[in-house]
Parts: sequence; C-alpha cells; structure tokens
Amino acid sequence: MSTASERFPTRRPTFAEIDLEAFDRNLDAIAASLPRGSRTIAVLKADAYGHGAVELARRCAGKADTIAVALLEEAIELRDAAIELPILILGPLSAAQFDLVFEKGFTAGIVGPEEMEAFASRARATGWKGEIHLKLDSGMGRMGFLESDLEALARSLRELDGVTVAGIYTHFANAPDAEDPFTIEQMERFDAMTARLRALGIEAPLHHLANSAAIARGLVRAGEWVRAGIILYGAEPLERDAKRLEPLMRWTTRVARLKEVAPGSSVGYGRSWIAARPSRIATLPVGYADGYGRALSNQAEVLIGGRRAPVVGRVSMDLITVDVTDLPGVAAGDEVTLMGRDGDDEISAEELAAKLGTISYEILCDVGARVPRIYRDGRRLWIHGPGARGG
Ligand SMILES: *Cc1c(COP(=O)(O)O)cnc(C)c1O
Repeated sequence: MSTASERFPTRRPTFAEIDLEAFDRNLDAIAASLPRGSRTIAVLKADAYGHGAVELARRCAGKADTIAVALLEEAIELRDAAIELPILILGPLSAAQFDLVFEKGFTAGIVGPEEMEAFASRARATGWKGEIHLKLDSGMGRMGFLESDLEALARSLRELDGVTVAGIYTHFANAPDAEDPFTIEQMERFDAMTARLRALGIEAPLHHLANSAAIARGLVRAGEWVRAGIILYGAEPLERDAKRLEPLMRWTTRVARLKEVAPGSSVGYGRSWIAARPSRIATLPVGYADGYGRALSNQAEVLIGGRRAPVVGRVSMDLITVDVTDLPGVAAGDEVTLMGRDGDDEISAEELAAKLGTISYEILCDVGARVPRIYRDGRRLWIHGPGARGG
C-alpha cells in the first residue's frame, strides 16, 4: 500500500488522509442502528467537518437520502460537482439568496419568521413552486419558529401557492448529556408544536430531530429521519462513554530534520522549552497555519513508529519540534502521526480537543486548507481537485 508522500513526492509531506471505505462503513452502521422507516441526512457542512464535502458526498449516493449543509455556497459547491442527492440548507438565508436556492433546486430549511418573509416575497415574485422544510425552536434558542410564531406561519403558507412543507425539524441543545432531561422535553415540545401546526392545516410527511448524540443514545422514533454529523466522521458524539465509529482522518507529516541539543539549550520562539539533558529534537513541517494550534506548544504528543513523542517548544506557523530522545532509531523522513492511529496507539481528535479546551468538531474543522486531503479507497489514493483524480 503506497503512502501519500510516495504518491505525491513533490509536495510537503503533510497530509490529511481520508479513509472513504471507513466512511461507507460508518454510513452503514448508522443506517443499521435506526428504527424502521428512518433515513439518514448526512451533514456535510463546513467542508464535511474538514474532510472535504465533495468526495464524501459522492460516497453518500445510495447510503444517505439527503445532504445537509449550512451555507448556500456549500450547496452550490456540491451541485457544481454533480452531486444529485437532495441538498438541504440549514441556513439562515437572506432574500438575496433565495433566487439561487430556487434556480439550483435546493431545499431551504426555513429558520424563522424573518426568513419566511424573505422566502415568501421571492417565491411570490418568481412564481416558484417546490418543497421547503420548517425549523422549530424547541429549546435551542438560536433559530426556528417559536410556539407563538405558528399561527402567522400557517397564514403565510396558506397564501403561497405551490409551496409544500416536506419536512419539519428541530435541533437539540444538550443531547450528549444523557442525565439532562432537556432532550426529552425538546422532543415533547416538538410534538406539541407539530400537533399545533397540524391543527392549523400544516403537516409534513417527514420529521427530523436527532443529531449524532441523539442517534448514539437511540432517541430516534420509527419513521423519523436523522441529521448525522460528527458520528459520520468517527468522532465521539457523547461526553462520557463512546459509541464512536471509525475515525476517517489520519493527519500525518514526516521528520524533516533531526538535531542534537545540549543541556541548557532552548528550542523555538520565546525559549519556552530548555533541554534538561542531552536531547534529540525532530523538526516537523507543520504549524499553526495548518491548524495545529499554537496552544498545543509543550502540550501535545505525536506518534512515530507507534510510540509517543512530546511536542516541545512553541508551535510556529510552519514548523513544530518534538523530543525524540527516548525513541532511538527515529530518522529523517520517518512518518509522524499528528492525529489518528499508528500501530497500537492513537492520537484522537478528542485528545487534542481536551488539550485545547474544545471539542473534536473544532479540531477537525481547523485542519487547514494548506493540508491536502488525500482520499483512500482501498489501494487507490488521490487528491481532490480539478484534474487531480488520477494524480
Ligand atoms: C451541525 C448540525 C447537525 C449535526 O450535528 P452533529 O452533532 O455533528 O451530529 C445537525 N443538525 C443541525 C441543525 C446542525 O446544525
């Protein structure tokens, strides 16, 4: 099996390798965990949480029924790449954006009264007919129609010819915490709100509530669709425990050079690390401009040959330094795992997130645009981009 740096020898050997077969298995595992009649909406916003939305969207055909993104721009990127699955835009959207939404055939998730007004004015002006989803605020408190908005909502919908509500949804505020009854309360509030809408003549064939944490907790009722995000990428949706699927991303680099330093010598900006003993320092071509956070300075570890080495000194823009004194045999050109599995050990997105006081989502999204995403499908490796399929 060739490696990314063998395959792309003229590039800096820092790559995020994405395992597409693992993505297939994750999609299958989610589908298998759902009750009867439930289907997956694959949430590929933010460039599929840093994994590359186009390549992952291509794998969704036949495994997911809809793709969800946050932005109109994200939807356009997928459509321009010939992705044919329905694309739901989670929003918000402005009046100026709706003509494009109509023209490209996207599904807008209408997130509240202001957006409804913008949508209705453009739909009337253009004579557009089609399907929308409605988002209800059952307790997240950011977006969605409130109970008090429903009557006016039903009135505006009645005035729109040819507009069908295909889906009604809501988003959970604290689904990872199984001890917090709030998620169940949100489900009850959603049920009450959809009942109220039904009484007002608004019904949708499709309801979707669950995010990854709710899927992992089994809070999906028969027939409901789910919006699966982080669970698709194999990171942990739950705080404790971990029904984690397979991580897709391995972020690797290679040792650029090795240097012996004497006790008392410092390494890097600000002289934040001083050798306490004769030390061997490996310099690696990755830095905070690649999303390897500066706050990982003197905090994180990397894997070389399946063994751990600490990051010492400051993370610079383009370089980091690790102490390999205790790993005899490390040589220039050796592969280094920044995130992902190597042998029996793994640096997880959760491990890096804990060091930075954040969540795995942010770690994955932060892997920089300068780091090429390399896609692996069995023995085949490629970089996403125009004409890059084969090379
Ligand atoms: C991002 C997002 C999701 C996916 O959340 P995960 O926790 O990653 O599963 C689902 N629904 C909405 C509305 C979102 O914005």
